[in-house]
Formats: sequence, structure tokens, C-alpha cells
Amino acid sequence: MDLLLDINVAVDVCTKRSPFYLDADLALAKCLYEGGRLWLYAGSVQTLEYVTRQELKQSQRPDSPSPSAKQLSRQARNLLKVFTADKHWLAALAGEGDVFDSEDPEDEQLIRALARLGPDARLLSRDGPLAECYPERVLSPAAYLAMDRPRRALEFIDLKTPQDAIRADLERGIHRVLHHGQYILGPEIAELEAALAEYVGVQHGLTVASGTDSLEIALRALGIGPGAEVITVPFTWISSAEVIGLVGATPVFVDIEPASFNIDVTRIEAAITPRTKAILPVSLFGQMADYGAINALAARHGLPVIEDAAQSFGATRHGRRSGGVTTIGSTSFFPAKPLGCYGDGGALFTDDDGLAEKMRAIRTHGGIRRHHHPLLGMNGRFDTLQAAVLLAKLPHFAGEVEARSRIGARYTEQLQDRCGTPSVMPGNTHVYAQYTIRLAERERVADALKAQGIPTAVYYPKCLHEQPVFAELGYRWGDFPEAERASCEVLSLPMHPGLTEPDQDRVLSALSVCLKT
Ligand SMILES: *Cc1c(COP(=O)(O)O)cnc(C)c1O
Repeated sequence: MDLLLDINVAVDVCTKRSPFYLDADLALAKCLYEGGRLWLYAGSVQTLEYVTRQELKQSQRPDSPSPSAKQLSRQARNLLKVFTADKHWLAALAGEGDVFDSEDPEDEQLIRALARLGPDARLLSRDGPLAECYPERVLSPAAYLAMDRPRRALEFIDLKTPQDAIRADLERGIHRVLHHGQYILGPEIAELEAALAEYVGVQHGLTVASGTDSLEIALRALGIGPGAEVITVPFTWISSAEVIGLVGATPVFVDIEPASFNIDVTRIEAAITPRTKAILPVSLFGQMADYGAINALAARHGLPVIEDAAQSFGATRHGRRSGGVTTIGSTSFFPAKPLGCYGDGGALFTDDDGLAEKMRAIRTHGGIRRHHHPLLGMNGRFDTLQAAVLLAKLPHFAGEVEARSRIGARYTEQLQDRCGTPSVMPGNTHVYAQYTIRLAERERVADALKAQGIPTAVYYPKCLHEQPVFAELGYRWGDFPEAERASCEVLSLPMHPGLTEPDQDRVLSALSVCLKT
């Protein structure tokens, strides 16, 4: 449960005001221990400083020389600086300014701001009348301490904690867009595209509306349409094959290789026909396929390669970044992906100037200048607001990639003797978009974990050749034994860069109990 701290509670703790600070201190510790956040309202800063100063003044011992106003002010600011350092600032929004009809504008602001934190958050306050006015929203430190500790369910992917680290930059970036008003292809888009291209190590980065649109734009730019075949895998998210159908071409599936869940390179050649126009391998769960071998084979047949790097952004193979090793690389910024925005989004990468220009045109209705459309395109642009979100996240991404790899390795270390664990192929780093194990009795284990508050997910319970939409391709069960076996065995565990060791231990110990029985 998140707590917004009223001025009185903040000052109690900050100045160690007796006897109140004892309960207040404990309440704050309890909140953090239970995984909650402590918030201070940015609109209250001046009052907070004023009240702290007053409290310091009143608490002077009568026999000691009274400090100057300047000294008191400095002392108050120093105390507040330390106290607020590990709290979260809740922004004051425009809608919290028109509070003059209220009997108590300051309380009204706090209650309105609190509502933004969701129905579970409470205002922690010693103000009795305020608590009577809003019995559902306000708690005293004593009342909060008396509450039972709720059993905290783990999150499969925690999107909130990473936000804590970027809140100030995020809000600044979003507000900048609100004020300059260039919502479509605003300056943040060009800034982000340059940063992404540099990160991936290619000449051209192009943001788009989703990781599905990016694949479709890549195929269209390569001129792939009716009559063409595109090779991909049957064990992936629907998008990888959906886009092939959307441009009028035919997906041709090649089985996966069980250790990496990625395309089995040794089986590609047999699937190539005169109609084959591209190879679209997926870097599944966060590690790259064997692009050295795939590129060599594609070059022999004169085929372009599109890496579906939706799950592997940040991963490397022999030191080269995912997205930057094939004719075109495509990624997704769906919130749960390694680099996620707060909505839909994606990006394309290439070193080919001509393809970059075509993809840029297709993204905006096939136009190369205003009212001139030589190509069939789409409305596939990324939002400027989402670009601002990613610009705030990008400086933290390297640290997140490192955390993902460390957390994944720790899972493997503890689990490798008890169930199938993901193998990191030689030359690869893994970003664990999913940490996926293999189990014979997946449903029983998933249910047992769920009962202990540990969420799991199955990616993917059904292969693409079994999906009704692809029935007309004529594949049958048995055609792709490794993909089919994976779809029956895989189970993904909670995985995100903020997963703490104690939380990971909770997963591991719960899992070790189920695997024993
Ligand atoms: C998520 C995903 C996509 C599609 O990305 P969206 O941004 O959701 O459209 C494509 N391929 C794979 C492998 C994915 O995991």
C-alpha cells in the first residue's frame, strides 16, 4: 500500500517530535517493508518547510541561546533534504490548483492528489477532522500500524519500480511535449531515433507504432507481397507470422532448436523454394538466434533477413547488438518488453539507406513529401509522448539489461538440476524478456505457485501452425516436434530488472517445494 504523507506526519518524523514520531517512524518503516511507496506532495513543499521551521523554533530549550531565523531555516532545509531523499515526489497538477471553494484548500489538494495513486493508497495523517471527513482515504500512523499485513502477491513483471527511478525525467519530458504540442513526429522522435540507432550500432533507426507494424513495414519495404514465401518459426508470438499474411505472402514454418527456442538453422535450407523472399527469425525470450549462420545461408540464396528482436532488445551476439545484425532489425516497445514504453511502439533498424528511406515513407502513408505518395503505406508512426517516455528510460537501460542477465543467471544456478532451464548459447548475452523453464507437469506447478501468490505465464501454449487463422496453410500436429514439445512444457517465471533477491528466493523456494512432490 502506498502512503501519501501529510505535513504533520512528515514533520513528526523529520524533527523527531515527541511523542508522535515513534508511531510515525514505525508506520513509514512498515510501509517500505511491505513494498509500498512513501509519497510527498510536491505542492506542499513550502508549507512543509515552514512548519518544520516553526517546530524547530518551538522545540528550542528555553535556556539555550535562540538561533537566528537564518540558522533555523538552514537547519529545517537540511533535515528536509535528508528526510525527502528516499521518498517519492507526487507532482502537483493543474487540476489541483482550483481549490478555493474548499474550506481547506490544502487538504483538498492532498485528497485530489491521493486519488491519482489509486484506490488502495492512503493519506497518512494525524489530523482527526480530516480523517473523519474521509474515513476511507485517511489513516493515522497508529491505525495503519494496527492493520494486518496483507499477503503481498509477487508481480510477473513489475513496471512500477523502474518508474520510480525516472519519475522526474519522465514528468519533465511529458510536460515538454504537452507544451510544445508537436504530438506527431515531434523533436523527441528524432532524438530517440538517433539514440536508438547509436545503441544498436546501425546507420538508421526508425520508430513506429508497434512491433507488429515494424515487421509489416519491413516486409513491405522489401517488396514482399502475394506469391512470396517468408520463412519463420511456429513457436513465437502471433505477430511474427501474422504480418507475413497481412502483406499477402505465405508463412513457411521451420522448427526450433530446443536449447535456445530459436530457429533450427540446419532446417532452413530445406524450406527454401523459388518463392522464398525473406527469412524472418525470432530472437525468442531475449537471446539472439545464430545470425552468423543465418546471414551466410541467406546470402547464398540472395535473401534478406529480418530479425524479430521484439524480445531481445539489449541482447548481444559476439558483441553485436540485437536489431543490428541483419538486413533489417525490428523491435517492440510494448510495456512488458525489455525496453517498454507506456503504450504501443516499435522500431526498425538498418544500415541500408534505400530501405531506410522506403520504411520511413511507408510509416507515413507511403509519402516521401507532402501529398506525394509513390508507395502504399500505413499510419505507423510512434507517438511523441511515448518517445519522451523512452528518452527518460534509455539512460537506465544498460543497468536494467545487466540486472536481467544477473537475475536470469541466478535462477539458472538454482534450478538447473531440477527442471529444464534456458541455455545461453555461446557468444550470446541474454536479456530474459521471459525466464522460461521446461516442466513435465506444468499445470500442477503453475497452480501450486499461484496458490502461493507467485504468478507464472505460458509463452506459448499453442504453436502458430495450430492457430485457426493458419489452418489453410495445411500444417498438422507432428510437423514441428520441437516447437510442439516446447508449447507443452514451457512455463515463464516472474522476471523483471527490479526483482529483488528475497522475492526471487520466494519464487525459488515455492518452486522447489512443488518440484519435490
Ligand atoms: C511482442 C512481440 C511482437 C509484436 O510487438 P507489438 O509491439 O506488441 O506489436 C512481435 N514479435 C514478437 C516475438 C513479440 O514478442
